[in-house]
Amino acid sequence: MKNYSNIYKPNQRNLVKCAKILRNDGICALPTETVYGLAGNAYSDKTIDKIYKLKKRPRNNPLIVHFDNLQSILKETEYNFLLSKIYKKFSPGPITYVLKLKKNSKISKKLANKNSTIACRVPANRYFRKIIKLCGSPLAAPSANISNNLSPTSSYDVYDEFKKKIKFILEDRKSKIGLESTVINLVGQPKILRPGKISKDELKKIIKKIVNNKSKEILSPGQLKKHYSPGVPVYLNKKNPENKGALLVFGKSNLKGENIFYLSKKGSLSEAAKNLYSKLRLIKKLGYKNISITKIPNKNIGIAINDRLKRASS
Ligand code: AMP
Ligand code: MG
Repeated sequence: MKNYSNIYKPNQRNLVKCAKILRNDGICALPTETVYGLAGNAYSDKTIDKIYKLKKRPRNNPLIVHFDNLQSILKETEYNFLLSKIYKKFSPGPITYVLKLKKNSKISKKLANKNSTIACRVPANRYFRKIIKLCGSPLAAPSANISNNLSPTSSYDVYDEFKKKIKFILEDRKSKIGLESTVINLVGQPKILRPGKISKDELKKIIKKIVNNKSKEILSPGQLKKHYSPGVPVYLNKKNPENKGALLVFGKSNLKGENIFYLSKKGSLSEAAKNLYSKLRLIKKLGYKNISITKIPNKNIGIAINDRLKRASS
């Protein structure tokens, strides 16, 4: 039997307890609508060091900072004429803005990209925002997994990643979206660095021109090829399982067997996104040596699903 004594229910007493740990430079895992995050005080160099160490994250891969509202982002970043327009439409929610850090900002330079830009998000999850308010400081929060592993979408996934190395994991429902946020760079010409639930088409209704991120320069270090890996080989666009492995199906299938799993029987891309990481984790846990996946339509959030799968398979 596992002992989940570091998983806490989201009641007022526990939210206060969590904020106290964070104010004292501790680390807590918190739920968000995208995936669970490993949160720590964004003003504290010491805490940022702890996050990198726990995750075994390469130092050149900057962290997303979570704020409770637009005003607190404006306090730390230089004015950007697009920000409030996009913010009004999509935040709080699954979108992250890369902005220029103000010279006098107290945010730890250790989480910034080349000391000069930071990624900012206001999550929709109300417990997360409440905790930011209780702390009185923004919280750095990368996904709560060891670097390169799959992101966690439940408090139990976080437990499986870190066991008792984290003192406090806040429990909530399974992450509603299930994939990491859309990252848009607003420094210079707007550019999508990571696809997510909020698509380029939706963003284009507000920002006329969004350039493709084709440059050789790695603007977002997290765009590394291999990432989001379940730890066994992943094969894309398959119709059948390979070599006694598992098959993960989008939509319906006539295949039967205990190695056949479903992302969404009704063919919903949102449902598939929500289930993606948890199904991959489950299949790995059951001991299958490889995972084949049927074709996923490359539209709406399917673009983000295919982006993650491509990296998982590389
Ligand atoms: P994660 O925290 O695991 O969801 O990953 C955050 C993603 O945002 C990674 O792909 C990072 O490389 C990217 N990111 C964070 N901060 C910046 C920044 N200042 N500039 C560009 N990309 C960033
Ligand atoms: Mg991550």
